[in-house]
Amino acid sequence: MLAVVGAMEEEIDLLAQAMSVAERHVRAGVEVVSGAFRGVDLVVARCGIGKVNATICTQMLIDHYPLDKMIFSGVAGGLLPNMRVGDLVVASHVIQYDVDLTAFGRRHGELPDKGRTVESCPALVQLAADAYDAVFDGGAGDPNLMLGTVVSGDRFVQDPDTLRWLQREFSALATEMEGAAVGYTCDLNGIPFVVIRGLSDTAGSEAAADFSVNLSAVCRNCFRLLEQLIPMASQDPAAAKTRMAGAG
Ligand code: SAH
Repeated sequence: MLAVVGAMEEEIDLLAQAMSVAERHVRAGVEVVSGAFRGVDLVVARCGIGKVNATICTQMLIDHYPLDKMIFSGVAGGLLPNMRVGDLVVASHVIQYDVDLTAFGRRHGELPDKGRTVESCPALVQLAADAYDAVFDGGAGDPNLMLGTVVSGDRFVQDPDTLRWLQREFSALATEMEGAAVGYTCDLNGIPFVVIRGLSDTAGSEAAADFSVNLSAVCRNCFRLLEQLIPMASQDPAAAKTRMAGAG
């Protein structure tokens, strides 16, 4: 079974409306809709904003549903100067940028015994890129696609200094508030995951206003990718759960 998670209503609504709903539950404060989309069994959840909410939701879903993969879909702030609102970023890697044990000589984002980077499932990253190719043809108004590192922290970034630091310290393409928490929790449980983000803003001084104006339109780009990706991911054996020894 596949889980699709977003932080806000706008990020999951299009999918929740398009699926045939079998059940609705609230578990650990998280609204979960289960059912099917294009013949694929799935659960869709709105985790709320931030890494704590994302972690609780992810572990709850893993504990209550027979998941074999998870997709996070939502919006983020782009970190490179040439990025455009609406562009899509698929996270090959995620980092919790606000973990700070630099006092002990560690790098920003680094946890003891864990390193600082969690890798998305390579097969799901590849499928997300294939799904993009199937949906968008580079026409005017089509988003660009970028694959790379996405960083997460419990902060809405809207200043150029932080933006530049995140880009240079972590080689990051985008910043948001949930993806690395989802990735970390999936990794500990041996669940393949990928994080997909549409750019609602470019994390600069107008980010909050841009975010509000662009949220719905950008979520539509993410949904178009998901529509294609969900059936592809459900059929791909390489993107199925491969519980690691000792995990889960
Ligand atoms: N609308 C909310 C706040 C949204 S926070 C309120 O009423 O308070 C922003 C959300 O979008 C988070 O879920 C985060 O993951 C993502 N996001 C988009 N742009 C971001 C940015 N520049 N910095 C951090 N998170 C961002």
